[in-house]
Amino acid sequence: MRMKKHPVFYIAMVVCLLIVVSLASCGGDDPIADPDPSSPPESVTPPTISTPPPSITPSTPPPPPPPPVELFPYDGVVEHIFFHEVIAWPELAFNGNAMERGYDTNMVTVSEYIAILESLYRNNFILVNLNDVWSEFTNEQGQQRMRRNTLMLPEGKKPLVISFDDLSFYEYMTGDGFMEKYIIGDDGDIWAIGTDPNGNTVISQDLTVITILDKFVKENPGFSHEGAKGCIAFTGYEGILGYRTQFDRTNDTQEARLHRRQEIARARPIVQRLHDTGWYFATHSYGHIWLDSSSLDRVQTDALRWKDEVASLVGETRIFIYPYGSRLDNGDVWDTGPALRFYNNELGFRYFASVGRESFSRIKPDISAVMMDRMPVDGLALRSRRELFLRFYDAAEVFDHSRPTGNDSAGRPYEIAWQT
Ligand SMILES: [Zn+2]
Repeated sequence: MRMKKHPVFYIAMVVCLLIVVSLASCGGDDPIADPDPSSPPESVTPPTISTPPPSITPSTPPPPPPPPVELFPYDGVVEHIFFHEVIAWPELAFNGNAMERGYDTNMVTVSEYIAILESLYRNNFILVNLNDVWSEFTNEQGQQRMRRNTLMLPEGKKPLVISFDDLSFYEYMTGDGFMEKYIIGDDGDIWAIGTDPNGNTVISQDLTVITILDKFVKENPGFSHEGAKGCIAFTGYEGILGYRTQFDRTNDTQEARLHRRQEIARARPIVQRLHDTGWYFATHSYGHIWLDSSSLDRVQTDALRWKDEVASLVGETRIFIYPYGSRLDNGDVWDTGPALRFYNNELGFRYFASVGRESFSRIKPDISAVMMDRMPVDGLALRSRRELFLRFYDAAEVFDHSRPTGNDSAGRPYEIAWQT
């Protein structure tokens, strides 16, 4: 069934036309030249995109407006998957040491990540911003509650949220095949810097999750709805994005404070650039703590530290991506205990995301919150959960065969469930 166009469509059309008119005016000798009389009025009938823009200097015609995209209502499942930072050099991550198993389980390699993005795009997924999927309203009792929005998407597109956990380049990852930090390039774009296996400094956009997705969307704009990219879930205990922005209580010297201020100053423009290019942020707790076994006091102290050291850098957020998938509700989406109430009432959080086998979500009836699960795209899923992810990608096609074989350092075998 073809549906009415969304009001945003018309607004976008009008804005495009206004931009075209102003560009044409600026570029011409006569700033008050009459606009093309064939242009349709702004409000009565929808403007047709094929109308040629008013031309003043024929030698430098303004760029044509983008083609119209008709939008259709979508109320189905919004898929939600997540990644960690990618392994840039598998030979360093998979070197047989004690960390190897953890990297194999929790991470994907660059080649796997790119192949998965390509498959998602081929399968008609489109990135949406989690904050647009639900919204808050006041019910008849005067209470704030959440409700699901009808998304307006291009025909045939399936909405997808991708979140990225722990993009901090933790100390333990140093030298293990990951880049070291995100930076701003001379072009104003985000890049990353690191050291390759030969000890050479590498500056690249091809070896980290953020920059690879940025490039992918630039090449395939149809993969992003209204410019949405991903949700980045930060802890704070070793800073963010490779910058040690945390306050170290055990080393509170003048020098340490100065260093911290410098790290914060270096991280800020990257955060700003992320904000400007469709990325948005979540808390992942400050200390990556086990929420279900932490006291209320510990949960509160941790939350306030995140607010102090990370929200001050990335801005306030209403999204909580649970560390370890451990939860504030005792594993029961109907349970609203004091820790969840604290995050909800005192800190204004509305979205609480754990980990599960499907893109589950449930609106809480008793408070203004949405509980959800995200599906982990990692080595464990690639090795043993092929079926679960087939609608996104086929593990047998994207699997990086530079992953370890044989046994890990504890003698446990590396297996691939789909390989006979
Ligand atoms: Zn985590």
